[in-house]
Amino acid sequence: MTSDALAQLRADIVEVGRRLWSRGYVASNDGNISVRLDDGRLLMTPASVSKGFMTPEMMVITDLEGNLLEGAPGRKPSSEAKMHLVVYRVRPDINAVVHAHPPLSTGFAVAGIPLDRAVLAEVVTTLGSIPIADYGTPSTPALADAVEPYVKAHDGLLLANHGALALGTDLFGAYYKMETIEHFARISLVARMLGREHLLSREEVGRLQQLRGTYGIAAPAPLCTDPDDAAAADQVLCQVLEAPESASDRLVPDVTAALGSLTSDALSARVAASRDGEIRLTYAELTQLIADAVKNLR
Ligand SMILES: [Zn+2]
Repeated sequence: MTSDALAQLRADIVEVGRRLWSRGYVASNDGNISVRLDDGRLLMTPASVSKGFMTPEMMVITDLEGNLLEGAPGRKPSSEAKMHLVVYRVRPDINAVVHAHPPLSTGFAVAGIPLDRAVLAEVVTTLGSIPIADYGTPSTPALADAVEPYVKAHDGLLLANHGALALGTDLFGAYYKMETIEHFARISLVARMLGREHLLSREEVGRLQQLRGTYGIAAPAPLCTDPDDAAAADQVLCQVLEAPESASDRLVPDVTAALGSLTSDALSARVAASRDGEIRLTYAELTQLIADAVKNLR
């Protein structure tokens, strides 16, 4: 690698760090970024620096075992280097790793809710499913061990009670996947607060996966046909993505559908007579609606 190319990568890591920090994806010294150089060594952020205030000469170079090869005096590799190393070992196609603590996706990771529903076309196309790796104490081998089973089949991961991890064939590709994960978490949260989440059908998911070729996106793994296929030995080899057979399936039942059980002409007349679609229900009718909705949830 020419010295110009290396200098550019150092500058690119500074830029990605600044974007992570300015978007609120990291606080204090959180997060880390690494790139695989063409000689197999790794260029990565040093330990204990804010990602918003880095300079190119701060970066360190390590081998694939994490041993420090080059760095300014006093600079050590990122405390999460082990998590990056496991990714490069398992995925020869991956050349960049970005780790951050974006608040929305980390919220899902804290709640134990994976981002594994087929909701947004661009997420299905670029990442597919975003599972949660078990909790592992940061900066210890436990975190790398927790991440390892998911790395083969996923380019985006949530880390339980911790943050998110994005993998890419190049640095900006990994950074953009981090943006996509956080954007997806934000939209999922809003949809769930609104009380409905319409999923893309399995058929549409198939069409979107076909598009990956058109856009030159490498698919990390196929969908699991049976959730039990997810785990093979110590590596997950397919993705679990919730996508109904029918496009009309809803995870959260539409409460207005329960109005169908109130078949009284009086109710229909009130709906028809209402100027703005608003109708008033009696206490008994409301109780029946709630009972029907609860029944639908079971
Ligand atoms: Zn972290």
